[in-house]
Amino acid sequence: MSDTNDAKEQARRGVADAADELIDVSRRIHANPELAMEERQAAALLSERLEAHGFQVERNACGLETAFRASWGEGPVTIAYLCEYDALPEIGHACGHNLIATAGLGAAYGLKAALSPSQVRLLVLGTPAEEGLNGKIIMLERGAFEGVDVALMAHPSPADVDMPPMYGLAQVEVEYGGQAAHASFAPEMGINALDGLVTAYQAIAQLRQHIRRDSRIHGIITDGGSAPNVVPERAAGTFYVRALQPPYLEELKEKVHRCFEAGAVASGATVDIRWGPYTCAPMRSNRALAAAYRANAESVGRTFIDVRLDSTASSDMGNVSQAMPSIHPMFGVGAMAFNHTPAFTDVCATEAAHASMVQVAQALAMTGVDVVLDPDLLQRAKDEFASGGGYP
Ligand SMILES: [Zn+2]
Ligand SMILES: [Zn+2]
Repeated sequence: MSDTNDAKEQARRGVADAADELIDVSRRIHANPELAMEERQAAALLSERLEAHGFQVERNACGLETAFRASWGEGPVTIAYLCEYDALPEIGHACGHNLIATAGLGAAYGLKAALSPSQVRLLVLGTPAEEGLNGKIIMLERGAFEGVDVALMAHPSPADVDMPPMYGLAQVEVEYGGQAAHASFAPEMGINALDGLVTAYQAIAQLRQHIRRDSRIHGIITDGGSAPNVVPERAAGTFYVRALQPPYLEELKEKVHRCFEAGAVASGATVDIRWGPYTCAPMRSNRALAAAYRANAESVGRTFIDVRLDSTASSDMGNVSQAMPSIHPMFGVGAMAFNHTPAFTDVCATEAAHASMVQVAQALAMTGVDVVLDPDLLQRAKDEFASGGGYP
């Protein structure tokens, strides 16, 4: 046990020694927000840093231009730290992925400082496009996670939560096709595609009154016609359907599908309903790993809240968590702001946010030490996973 404690102290110090570098990388990613699958500078910067620290880096991993896979060591236990680095349109790093990237980077530095290459196979996976395009699901399919024993990451949020639930998520594009006509001179000649979409939108709004509390439906109209005096011949929208339970997600998808069809029946327009190629699975947090993370995080000064969350988001990390023991804890950034708002963008470049990121990198590194040096922890994590356990 004292070996473990010594190694954890080395991991903690390894991160602290690199703090200035981690904060510099975070600031540079934050100052140059890049959208999903376009994160060229962030991926290049992280790859270059990992190489400078002695990792072997495979760029363009899995055929994705902005993915990478860095590795060090050939030990019997494989630990993967995941880095996200995509931003949102218009509001930049409003989900704080600059802090995820550097928490993962710092965790890797810390674990490398604490162990020998014969003890661990350490991977750092650069996973692009968390916001909407599901980089992790593609990388899972293409084998980037092969042989990984545990996958670890942490996400900024208003507060520290060890096992945040995450909804499963399906995306759908819908397009109605009508018949253009002069809206005053010959309206009877037209078929109004926008009417089809508005009817569907209203039907979904009615459905929303009667769905389970652990689910969500929301969407936008992306095309509502070209001019008020032309009967719209095209209308289009994008919707998300979310649920904590996979069978209920399938049930909701069918109901939403019928709402879209109802719009077509009512308006006479044609409808094309295209469900996205990927479905985010709900997060299944490994309790054994989450408990180890929490203890380590508390030991470096983090404080967790234990309220049961009634509302949440989604992530492609959910799919990783269904494939191997995983954690996706949330960490506070030192101010009360919510993800996906301009206020959160500002918060994610502050000194307080960076102090949190460094502590979280330490906790992730120390959890990696636990996984490698405490065979009982890895066994418990694996047993829990194999038995279908996890939270929620
Ligand atoms: Zn986000
Ligand atoms: Zn995010």
